[in-house]
Amino acid sequence: MKEIVPQPPAMVHNETAEIQALFQQYVVPTYGRFDLVLSHGSGSQLWDVAGKRYLDLGGGIAVCALGHAPAAITETLIEQSRKLIHTSNFYYHAPQGRLAQALVNLIGPGKCFFANSGAEANEGMFKLARKFGHDEGRFEIITAINSFHGRTLAGIAATGQDKVKKGFEPMVPGFRHVPFNDLAAMREAISPATAAILIEGIQGEGGVTPATPEYLLGLRQLCDEKKLLLFMDGVQCGHFRTGRFQSYQRILENVSGGEKFIPDAISMAKSLGGGYPIGAFWVRQPYADLLGAGSHGSTYGGSPLACAVALKILSIIEQEKLADNAREVGAYMKSGLEQLAAKYPGVIVNVRGLGLMIGIELAPNIPAFSGEGKSAAVRFTNLLHAAGLLAVPTATHIIRFLPALNLRRSEADEGLKIVSSVVEKLSS
Ligand SMILES: *Cc1c(COP(=O)(O)O)cnc(C)c1O
Repeated sequence: MKEIVPQPPAMVHNETAEIQALFQQYVVPTYGRFDLVLSHGSGSQLWDVAGKRYLDLGGGIAVCALGHAPAAITETLIEQSRKLIHTSNFYYHAPQGRLAQALVNLIGPGKCFFANSGAEANEGMFKLARKFGHDEGRFEIITAINSFHGRTLAGIAATGQDKVKKGFEPMVPGFRHVPFNDLAAMREAISPATAAILIEGIQGEGGVTPATPEYLLGLRQLCDEKKLLLFMDGVQCGHFRTGRFQSYQRILENVSGGEKFIPDAISMAKSLGGGYPIGAFWVRQPYADLLGAGSHGSTYGGSPLACAVALKILSIIEQEKLADNAREVGAYMKSGLEQLAAKYPGVIVNVRGLGLMIGIELAPNIPAFSGEGKSAAVRFTNLLHAAGLLAVPTATHIIRFLPALNLRRSEADEGLKIVSSVVEKLSS
């Protein structure tokens, strides 16, 4: 791992205000952004334009698998861009073929389709379900309440949260939602039009809620019985974040019958490219050739540059045993947070997650957060920022830690110290 680079000399003028003004004037305001203007990073360290340092435990929302500016990825970007950046999918090239092979080797017999984002990876799976059910008039996909599947029109229809749909009705038809981890509700919801079920192994935006082993095994059985496809959205919880390549592998570890579990398709993005945009879905045999020539596509999807980066990330994860690191440092962080929750139950009521996907649930009535205004999660995150730590708020009262997979134990310690200082202040 790379050492921390010294920060550049302090800016002589106020770049923060200047850059924020550009956004106000020229960028469509779809995001509630924090008051931070970032400049550069190294590993899990980040600096803003004023020279303040942050420990980044948000990882760009589970994207920066190797942290910021990893030297090996910079090298790969330079090397591959000297050969080929883009070809279109009219032609063959080595990086896409090799990456598909690597992903199949990690999951099981099947094939991959490449896109550029998580939403697009899911779109591909939606089309797969439509194609699968088409001749029988089946088209419906059942998803979970509190799920998140992306911001495209079908993505928001698939997402089990009203807030993402509001104002964009009518929804793309064919999606219904049932409570997560409730097998009976899923069974009940299946209609003659149902073609597939889609869930996250660990709900991310919904608040870091893992599927139970019984739920996963039950859904597989249900899908087999009703001839439905079982899709898993591994965009956030996948790519070794839990200590295994996919979260279901971790959830089903040491569970009887768990080793035989396999979904029919899995979507990926986020950590797959470590910050370079790439998405993908894997689909198992015998469904791997359902989407034939001309049925789906993407101009950029699986470009030589994106695939070379993704391959390099996979090889570094393996070389540096980052799956084990995610498991160990994640368990260490989680136990530290659990101790904090035990000491300050008036601030933290629950700690959830696996590996380096951890959520803390804030108490509903923290006095400092009473009154009108932003959610407790956003206000807590602002306090973390002030104390030099980046984390990702979600729902109204959950703080997520989704750091780089190469996070060091010393960095976890620093993070725990900062979180403790904020929690301590809130409890007094
Ligand atoms: C982030 C995310 C998506 C959407 O990915 P984009 O790259 O933003 O389109 C889909 N599903 C899950 C579970 C996610 O966390």
